[in-house]
Amino acid sequence: MMCSAENNNLIYMDHAATTFMYDEAVNVMVPFFTEKIGNPAAVYRYAGEAGRAVSEARRIIAGTLNADPSEIIFTSGGTESDNMAVKSAKNHIITTAIEHHAVLESCRAMEARGIEVTYVRPGSDGVIDPEEVRAAIRPETSLISVMFANNETGTVEPVREIGYIAKEYGIIFHTDAVQAYGHLPVDVREMNIDMLSASAHKFGGPKGIGFIYVRNGLKPETFIHGGPQERGMRAGTLNVPGIAGMGEAARISVKDMQHNADHVRSLRDRMIDGVLSNIPDVRLNGHPEKRLPGNVNFSIKGIEGETLLILLDREHICASSGSACSTGALEPSHVLTAMGLDAREAAGSLRLTLAASNTAEEVDTVIRVLKTIVERLRSVRSV
Ligand code: PLP
Repeated sequence: MMCSAENNNLIYMDHAATTFMYDEAVNVMVPFFTEKIGNPAAVYRYAGEAGRAVSEARRIIAGTLNADPSEIIFTSGGTESDNMAVKSAKNHIITTAIEHHAVLESCRAMEARGIEVTYVRPGSDGVIDPEEVRAAIRPETSLISVMFANNETGTVEPVREIGYIAKEYGIIFHTDAVQAYGHLPVDVREMNIDMLSASAHKFGGPKGIGFIYVRNGLKPETFIHGGPQERGMRAGTLNVPGIAGMGEAARISVKDMQHNADHVRSLRDRMIDGVLSNIPDVRLNGHPEKRLPGNVNFSIKGIEGETLLILLDREHICASSGSACSTGALEPSHVLTAMGLDAREAAGSLRLTLAASNTAEEVDTVIRVLKTIVERLRSVRSV
């Protein structure tokens, strides 16, 4: 069972930002704070329990990906995994203009080291065309990094096709699956994925822990130097409670994936239909079908995203907008602008991300509240 916002009288629809933890994942973690506190690197038997918990989590996670346990490296989360993958590139990188900043900023760091990066742009539906990736390949290309699903629009990218192209040219293929893992099936062998990033707090696990799958035979860039943990690829005492909690969350989210996805998809479609039919001048951003089960992203004409979020918050509704408030100015979303939206449309986006704990009643409440807020804001503007 997953905890929910029910007790706080909140309607939480920001699950792409972070999720509630599974109760089972919390319970699995507690003994590693209170009793079984051994360092898995120690030789005495007392530390064995911690070591076994780490091995079990590694085995569970590998199983969910069709990988070998030796191919799972624990990290502090999606950002670190993305940094590790991108910074492994020895030469030209192909990525997309809609990646998370963890990939984009890692690419910028590589550019500063003299490595060239090509940023493939999506179509207006947010989908990356695999043939554009192929067209960007050069003899010296060493890495292709394309996200599995976008964190803003939920658009699911053609990872299998891109993996196939990468394999054809012998180029390493990394995918940032932070939004997809635990929500969509992933098979690293079948999809020709060489490296994959994931983060526990996006699938019912704790924050500050994640993993990178690295196909056997590859050795990603080690940028945290120290002890020999994780076969020398990521130094530092293992976060045993986090790893155990992540393993349990991975087990449950993959076991319940189909059931949860069916429920969440029906809520998503109820939200999309309800908003589009009740509020004029709203457009759905991202592909209508190739999208994560729980993702809704609208541009609402004439409405600025941050204002909407504040007014929704007053009604106890947690949502998010594509615009980021940095240095006091609203930066339009780089994802929506890459899809061809103008700065105003991109600044007026609203992201609602649903999970199994949400209900149809909550969806109906949000549609009603949103309609009232939008009408009020538009009537103020037209005075
Ligand atoms: N990649 C994507 C697509 C994400 O959505 C996020 C977090 O929102 C990250 C990477 C970063 O993950 P973490 O929060 O674990 O560092």
